Formats: sequence, structure tokens, C-alpha cells
Amino acid sequence: MMRPFLTAALLAAAMLAMPVSNMAAAAPALQVTPDVTPPMDNQQAYVEWMVKNRGEKIEKLNERWARFQAMIQNKDLWTTKEYRAFLLSPREEFALTRNYARAYEHNFLDIGYGVTISGPHLVGRMTSAIDVKQGEKVLEIGTGSGYQSSLLTYLTDKVYTIEIIEPLGQRTAATYKKLATDGYKEFGRINTKIADGYYGWQENAPFDKIIVTAGIDHIPPPLLQQLAIGGIMVIPVGPPGQQRVLKVVKQKQPDGAVTITREDLYSGKIVPFVPFTKSGGGTHNSGGR
Ligand code: SAH
Repeated sequence: MMRPFLTAALLAAAMLAMPVSNMAAAAPALQVTPDVTPPMDNQQAYVEWMVKNRGEKIEKLNERWARFQAMIQNKDLWTTKEYRAFLLSPREEFALTRNYARAYEHNFLDIGYGVTISGPHLVGRMTSAIDVKQGEKVLEIGTGSGYQSSLLTYLTDKVYTIEIIEPLGQRTAATYKKLATDGYKEFGRINTKIADGYYGWQENAPFDKIIVTAGIDHIPPPLLQQLAIGGIMVIPVGPPGQQRVLKVVKQKQPDGAVTITREDLYSGKIVPFVPFTKSGGGTHNSGGR
């Protein structure tokens, strides 16, 4: 008589030890192509649409909707294309199992290996600032959990992401593969690489947009060089733990001169990021730390 109970308990224990992505609900019934958008003006309609077409959990969809409302209020999602990317991205799939319940909190979360995934508000604002359009090439430095690239994959089919911590890069590549196998095909086309992102990804340059998710005290010249004319980069710049999030625009003037303009996404507020590290240890800061 004890047997069914034990089996269930063992199964529950096994599931707790799994990455969240292995516990995904039913596979998505509908493929998301650029013309497919969930309802974005009504919570109930959104949740019903996502359950029916994407097989996701009601509880997580309600949490995602609540965070979506707060982000619009706070001007962290700027246009409907970023609304759509946020509402389609399953942030819980990129959180550690122990943080599953906290996936939609405002705060950053630990993702292992001494690094963190930024809070949804910051990810949303940085994503909105690069204004990604379908078909554009986007480079992300600092793959981390993979959540930032999840937003990007709903904005364009050309996402390139580089991570320096090898086991983390491998873990996230496996998460994308698992999601793609489960039917989230859009994750199967994210291009991943384990390398020092300071040097960009020359073979695929130029990039229309670049998003840097680790803090550094200067803009890496190779990244500026690999940014297309008319391109936008967002990058946290400043001394350790004291970055300002800059939007950098590269333009060509009528006289042929290439100019760079900078704008602070938080009007001077300090936003701390994990350090932009070097292979073999240390950071890329010219200040030496
Ligand atoms: N975009 C990530 C945020 C992770 S935090 C997400 O959505 O979860 C920043 C990441 O940048 C960390 O994973 C860190 O290991 C990585 N990183 C730091 N220096 C790097 C470098 N030189 N090249 C590539 N990635 C780097």
C-alpha cells in the first residue's frame, strides 16, 4: 500500500533536483512567428491565450502579467514589440530551480558561478533602448542565464551571445536546446559562443545592436568598431559596482566623420553590474580593478 506514495515522493524529489526547464508544462501548440502576438490589453485573455497556445502555467503567467504592468508603469518597456517580447519570454525557465517562485520579482537573482541575472525592469529598459527590429543582427555580451537573449529572440531571428564562464555558457546552451526540443523553436536559432566578449564576434560583424550585460570602465573599442553605422549599443560603464547604463549611438555625418553620442538611461543613477572579466582572471577595467 505504501508503494504509490513512495513513488510519488521519489518523483517529486527527482523533479526538485532538475533544472526548471525540465519541468516545463505541456509543449507549445503554436509556433511563435513575428506575426503572432498574444492579447496584451487584458490579463484574462492573455493568460487563456498562453495556456492554450503555449502550454504554460497559469500561476507563472499571472506573475508575468503583474510584472508587465509594473514595467509599463515605470517606463521599462517602451513599445508594443518589447511588450510582446516580455509577455512571450518564460523567465522562470532561466531561473535556478530554487528561485522558481521568485522568477518575476523586481530584484536580480543568483544564477550560480558568482553571477546574477538582472531584474526584469533593468532587462526591459536596456532591451527597449536598443530598439531591435525584426531581421536586425544583435550581439549580447554576457549570456548568463539566457533570459536577455530570450527577449531578443522574440524581436529578431539573428541573436548572437557570448559568455566567458564555460560551464555557464554550456548550461545555457543546453537550456536553449531543451526549450527548442520542447517546441520553443525560437531558442534553437540563438547563436552561442564561449569566449571573452571584449573582442566581440568579428566573423558576424557588423551588428545593428549590441547589448553588454557586465560592467566595465570604458567602451571596448572592438565592440564600437563592430557596431554598424546607425547602430545602438547599451553598456554599463563606470568603476567596479558603480556603473551608469549608457545608450551609445554610432553615426556617420554628412562630411563622412563617424560620431558617437552617449545618453544615460537612468539620468545619472548608479546601477551595479557584475564585472566584465578577462579570460585567465581579472577584469578589463583600464583602472586596473
Ligand atoms: N544577460 C545575462 C546577465 C548575466 S550577468 C542574463 O540574462 O542572465 C553578466 C554575465 O556576463 C555573466 O554571466 C558573466 O559571466 C558575463 N561576462 C563577464 N565578463 C565577460 C566577458 N569578458 N565576455 C563574456 N561574458 C562576460
